[in-house]
Amino acid sequence: MVKLKKYILVLIIGLSMSASPLCTSIWAKDFIVVIDPGHGGHDPGAIGGFSKEKNINLNVALKLGKLIKNNNEDVKVIFTRSTDVFIPLNRRAEIANDAKADLFISIHTNAVAGSKTVKGASTWTLGLAKSEANLAVAKRENSVILYENDYKTRYAGFNPNSAESYIMFEFMQDKYMSQSVHLASLVQKEFRHTCTRIDRGVHQAGFLVLKASAMPSILVELGFISTPEEEQFLNQDQGTSSLAKGIYRAFLTYKREHEIRATGASRTVIPVEDKEDNRSQEKPDSSSQRVAIKEPSSEPQAVSIKNDIRNTEEIIFKIQIFTSSALLTEKDKRLKGLKEVENYKEGGLYKYTYGASSDYNKILKTRRSIAKDFKDSFIIAFKRGEKININAAIDEFKKRNK
Ligand SMILES: [Zn+2]
Repeated sequence: MVKLKKYILVLIIGLSMSASPLCTSIWAKDFIVVIDPGHGGHDPGAIGGFSKEKNINLNVALKLGKLIKNNNEDVKVIFTRSTDVFIPLNRRAEIANDAKADLFISIHTNAVAGSKTVKGASTWTLGLAKSEANLAVAKRENSVILYENDYKTRYAGFNPNSAESYIMFEFMQDKYMSQSVHLASLVQKEFRHTCTRIDRGVHQAGFLVLKASAMPSILVELGFISTPEEEQFLNQDQGTSSLAKGIYRAFLTYKREHEIRATGASRTVIPVEDKEDNRSQEKPDSSSQRVAIKEPSSEPQAVSIKNDIRNTEEIIFKIQIFTSSALLTEKDKRLKGLKEVENYKEGGLYKYTYGASSDYNKILKTRRSIAKDFKDSFIIAFKRGEKININAAIDEFKKRNK
C-alpha cells in the first residue's frame, strides 16, 4: 500500500534526523535493563534439599543477561550482582534508579513449608496481596532486610513479618502497574509454552525491592526449591537455560512493543521458537533469527470484551489508556473528558481503551492525538473478541495491506 510505504519513508527520515548514528541504533537512547538475582553472600535465600536459592537465581540471571547482550546491540544490561555477594535490598533498586533503567527484573526461587509437591513458576508485580499465601511470598522475600544491620532506620520501621507493615501497599499508586503486569503476563506465557512449566499466574504483593524501583518492574519466582522434582530442574543446566530463554523471549516481546509504541516501528526480532532446541540450546544462533509471526497470544487470564466484534476475522486495533482495579464512572477525572471510552477485563483489572479501527495507521494517529493526556497509552489488538499479540497483529495488517 502506497500510503503505508510513504509513512515508513517519513518515519525513516524522521528517525535518521533525530537519532545518530543511525547504523548502531535507531533509538535515541539505548534500552537499559537491570537484572537482579535475588539474595547472595551470607543471605542464601530459600534452602532446598541440596541447593540454595541464591545460586539458582544467579545462574538464570547470568544466562538471561548473556542472551540479551549477545543478541541486542541496543540494550544495556546491568546486574545488581554477578557474583556471590550480599547486596542490601534498597541498593538493588538504587542501582536501577541511578541507571534510569527501562526495566527491572528481579529473579527468585519459591519455597513453601509443609509441601514437597507444589510446583510451578509465577511472576509478581507490586501491589496489595490478595491472599495470605501471596502475602507469605512477599514476607519471605522482604525478610532479607533482617540481614542488614540498620534495616530499622533504612526501611523506616518496616517489619517484614508483620501484616500491618503491608497496609501501605493498599494506598500506593503505581504508575508503572499496567506495564509491569503486561510484562509479567508475557513472562508467564513463555514459562508455559517455551519452558513447559506449570503456570501459577501473575500476582501482586508488597515487595520492597519493587516498591523502591521507579520503572516497570517484575519479580519472578522460577519454581519451588522445596519440591524435590523442581529443585532438580532448577539445578540442571537445561533447566536454568530454559527459564532464562523464557524470560528473554518475554523481554524481547515487551521491548518490541515498547519501540512500536514509541516510534511505530521496531527492529527487535523474536526468534522463532523451535521446540527441539528447548533441550540443549542456551544461546540461539543469531543468524537463524527472523521475525516471528506469533500465534494469537492466550494470556493466563481470560479476556472478555464488551462490544460486539466477536464475529469478524478483522483485526481491531484500540488504544489502551489506563488500567483500574474498579469500574469508573463517565465523569471520572482520569478519563480527562475523553468520550466513548470502552473497557475490557483482564487479570482482574478493568482496562480502558479509546478508539477502534482495523487500520493500524489510523489508530497510530489517534494515539498521537491523545498522547499528551495519556502518555503511557499504547496500542492493543483484538480478533474475534480476543486480545491478540500486537506484533502478530501489526505483521498481519502489513501483509494484508501490501
Ligand atoms: Zn528470594
